Amino acid sequence: MTPRYGDLAREVLGGHDVGRSEALGVLRSPDDDLLELLHGAFLLRRARFGRGVVLHVIRNAKSGRCQEDCAYCSQSAASDGEIPRYDMQSVEEIVDGARRAHALGAARYCIVTSGRAPGEEELDVVCESARRIKAELPLALCVSLGSLVASQAARLEAAGVGRYNHNLETSERHFPALCGTHAFPDRVATARAAKAAGMELCSGVLLGTGETLEDRVDVAFALKDLGADAIPVNLLDPRPGTRLAAEERITPEGALRALAMFRFVHPDKEIRIAGGRERILGPLQALALYPANSMFTNGYLTSPGQGYEADLAMLKAAGFEPAGFAE
Ligand code: SF4
Repeated sequence: MTPRYGDLAREVLGGHDVGRSEALGVLRSPDDDLLELLHGAFLLRRARFGRGVVLHVIRNAKSGRCQEDCAYCSQSAASDGEIPRYDMQSVEEIVDGARRAHALGAARYCIVTSGRAPGEEELDVVCESARRIKAELPLALCVSLGSLVASQAARLEAAGVGRYNHNLETSERHFPALCGTHAFPDRVATARAAKAAGMELCSGVLLGTGETLEDRVDVAFALKDLGADAIPVNLLDPRPGTRLAAEERITPEGALRALAMFRFVHPDKEIRIAGGRERILGPLQALALYPANSMFTNGYLTSPGQGYEADLAMLKAAGFEPAGFAE
């Protein structure tokens, strides 16, 4: 095994910042080098996070009926996919979800609502839920409510929300192919507002939407410019009824190379293998935990995963362990 990515990892641990051409080189590396590449990424992951895996549980607190036209999203008005559609849940329902996430051993609970931006009443529910959850449970709290203005971000931070999720999804060049009702700079503005309010920023990507390898590198560096603290890497599992329903799936090897690239560009940030893990990576899903140090468990927004027990068995069989609550 030619120790190329191992050397690059040691250079990064020594202070080297991976550049765009090196990142592109990772994405263009041949399948035969995949294990060596994952080894290099693992050296960075282990140095910062050991063998811990942060388990996140998502709460779909308001589902469907979104007026935006995001091409990949089954909650979009442009989609006629079969998904649950309901208005904002109550504080009690959201807090009860947190109790169950905690009982599962999750370290993070993420409250998500569909829609371009939260209404003030929805924000009231989320803030009250956050106060109750922080008072009762040792759980790190994230929310994802769409676009935010500074005053809304400040309210969330004051209520105990430690991290705000707002994905860039892809490069600025490719974004118009995915969404016509809002623009890439809108996403950047919300990400900046969340950071300015003192919350951590969780901002990630959706791979396999027709983007180029250069687009993947561009968004990796755009996230670096934003100072993203956590980066969920979603793999498009084309949803029936959406505009990308017929999109060709990313290969498991391509997805694993991308995860490694994100690890090399963001050596000490939380990298999450997110949506599409089971259906795109299949029997190779444990390999994703060599570059990534976190994952969702117990399902996704509108589609079930393989379940908590199977997730736990998978990560333990690969020599990883759930990381405890840390904020
Ligand atoms: S704004 Fe969010 S919920 Fe609405 S269509 Fe886009 S991704 Fe889906």
